[in-house]
Amino acid sequence: MSWTEVADGVFARRYDELDLTTGLVLGQDRCLVIDTRGDVDQGAEFAAAVRELTELPWSVVYTHAHFDHAFGTTPFLPCDIWAHPGCLRALLKNGETDKQKWAAHYREEGKPEIAEAIERTGLMPPDRLVPDRAELDLGGRTVALVHPGPAHTDHDLVVHVPDAKVVFAGDVVEHGPHGFTAYSFGPDDQLDAWARAMEALLALEPRIVVPGHGDQVDEAFVRTHRDGLLRLHELKTARASLEDALRDSPYPEDVTRAALGFS
Ligand SMILES: [Zn+2]
Repeated sequence: MSWTEVADGVFARRYDELDLTTGLVLGQDRCLVIDTRGDVDQGAEFAAAVRELTELPWSVVYTHAHFDHAFGTTPFLPCDIWAHPGCLRALLKNGETDKQKWAAHYREEGKPEIAEAIERTGLMPPDRLVPDRAELDLGGRTVALVHPGPAHTDHDLVVHVPDAKVVFAGDVVEHGPHGFTAYSFGPDDQLDAWARAMEALLALEPRIVVPGHGDQVDEAFVRTHRDGLLRLHELKTARASLEDALRDSPYPEDVTRAALGFS
């Protein structure tokens, strides 16, 4: 893992595990931490890495409630935690079940140390709710938290750093070998609305988009995959057969199956 300074005082930190990327925006008075990784140990590593860059007081924002983005928060306490109200609902409703599910997943994968860390993890619900948009003054720099509409979940929040033209997109945008990956889609995704959310992201006119997983991308990439999502949604609405969907989808089989709900 390593830090990349994607713009002046705007950092991304990328991890091998799930190819996750977290973020950090520095102001003169405060800093904003974007996502906290998947368990208490991972969160502690990330908090220490942030402290190597800055001693400023920090706020945390969750791009969404999925474990890999929102479960590593206790090492950052005390701090204010920003998220969409749907993120709070999802954490309260599914958080403990998700812990069990992912702990079991990592045991099966032969990574018992991650499973144990997840089991030791205390969940931290957000205490600053952003239904639509909020601005955070970090000192000399204002950052906007924007709900672009439902997309990867019903409660995605993206982080816009206007002076640097950077958007941290959470999993509204993912950069796999083909754009989206099979993991982009799941029971929480909102395929009918997702392309509109990407449109809302494009309206922020970013120069750099930092996805929740994978390489940083540009506007053209987001446009291409907005169109790809529209195609997937058309296929789903038309109740295309698996054979037709695989022929007409711009994505490989595993991504198409996941997006259209074929098991
Ligand atoms: Zn996710």
